[in-house]
Amino acid sequence: MSMQDPSPQSIDLLIEAGHVVPVEPHAIVLDDHAVAVHRGEIVAVLPIAEARQRFAPTQTVSRPQSALLPGLVNAHTHNPMTLLRGIADDLPLMVWLQQHIWPVEAAVIGPEFVADGITLALAEMLRGGTTCVNENYFFPDVQAAVYRQHGFRARIGLPVIDFPTAWASSDDEYFDRAGEVHDQWRDDPLIATAFAPHAPYTVNDANFERVRMLADQLDVPIHLHLHETAQEVEQSLQQYGQRPIARLDRLGLVNDRLIAVHMTQLTESEIHLCAERGVSVVHCPESNLKLASGFCPACALERAGVNVAIGTDGVASNNDLDMFGETRTAAILAKAVAGDASGFDAFTALRAATLGGARAIGFGDRVGSIEVGKQADLICVDLSPIETQPLHHVVSQLIYATGRHQVSDVWIAGQPKLRERALVGFDLEAIVANARQWRDRISTLRTGA
Ligand SMILES: [Zn+2]
Repeated sequence: MSMQDPSPQSIDLLIEAGHVVPVEPHAIVLDDHAVAVHRGEIVAVLPIAEARQRFAPTQTVSRPQSALLPGLVNAHTHNPMTLLRGIADDLPLMVWLQQHIWPVEAAVIGPEFVADGITLALAEMLRGGTTCVNENYFFPDVQAAVYRQHGFRARIGLPVIDFPTAWASSDDEYFDRAGEVHDQWRDDPLIATAFAPHAPYTVNDANFERVRMLADQLDVPIHLHLHETAQEVEQSLQQYGQRPIARLDRLGLVNDRLIAVHMTQLTESEIHLCAERGVSVVHCPESNLKLASGFCPACALERAGVNVAIGTDGVASNNDLDMFGETRTAAILAKAVAGDASGFDAFTALRAATLGGARAIGFGDRVGSIEVGKQADLICVDLSPIETQPLHHVVSQLIYATGRHQVSDVWIAGQPKLRERALVGFDLEAIVANARQWRDRISTLRTGA
């Protein structure tokens, strides 16, 4: 230290924490560290004592009993479906979709359903430490506006499916509307788009080729349900004489733009193909377990060098948006599937829930870790409750013992979204009243009353 320190630098926010878990570098915990934030960006990560000398923050938040982490990235959601929580459970995927979900959706879908479902989801996600989603639903224009209104970070899927829906009535209309939504949000700091062809069994070759061409042109990812069930693979073999991944490879889609969701049915050579081509895999363990779809070999994928992310999938098949719970399930299931308790360790699981998700959706350069130059998407987790005591190992507690109710504070791009458990900018009573109103509407529809 020099005798005359320079005068302290003005910054917006200094967060001091008992433990900072930066995720990058991998597998380290920085005790008694602070993160300095200015204009929404992380400007320094350093010991608290040093931070107090170097910075003159407008605001200081001190959390000596907490861990400070990057915000969690939910890499696969259908958040308008939060309004369908618990509507049809304990059914196999195709029965669930065709006899329950699709008929209800057909009756209620529209801008109001989408906006209200996302608002409910946003409140739930922020209270559980999620700061970014990869969204996949109809009316992406409405979704983008609601996420933006609350200052939430999202990659919004532009839907493509072979049949008419309330969003578009023909192939051309799906692509025209996709282009319009993309243009509207192309320069936004929080919102970006992706193509979201629904699944191999609902999108034909010609539409996949159009998706590939336009995704290249617009430089956006492709978000796709893939190899979700054995039945999907079987049907593809019958219809195309190829497994879905082989068919997509023939169509030129197996590359680093591809965000492949589920992937419960994989051969050794398909795992290596994904690694070689830079495909990201989104593991949605609870949805796969609940729909009895199969098991994603997360451990084998990770060891082959595939970027693995974690998603909750829609609330109608989960039934929550709890990324702490999902990450714990992912970690323990990966071990069981691999027959190896040392696989997918706590640090690896945390990375999948943060940087893995950010990389999968093309946000790896701006979020997913606590690094200088990245956006300040940060969460504080209170580790003082008895449920996470004694604190032998911070990251072990975070993955195997922490509940989402322990998230105390959340920032996105340096803006507070949750402050000591209180949501900023949400009227919780109004959200609950609105959810009840949707329950009544949907139940009237279903009983035909
Ligand atoms: Zn899904």
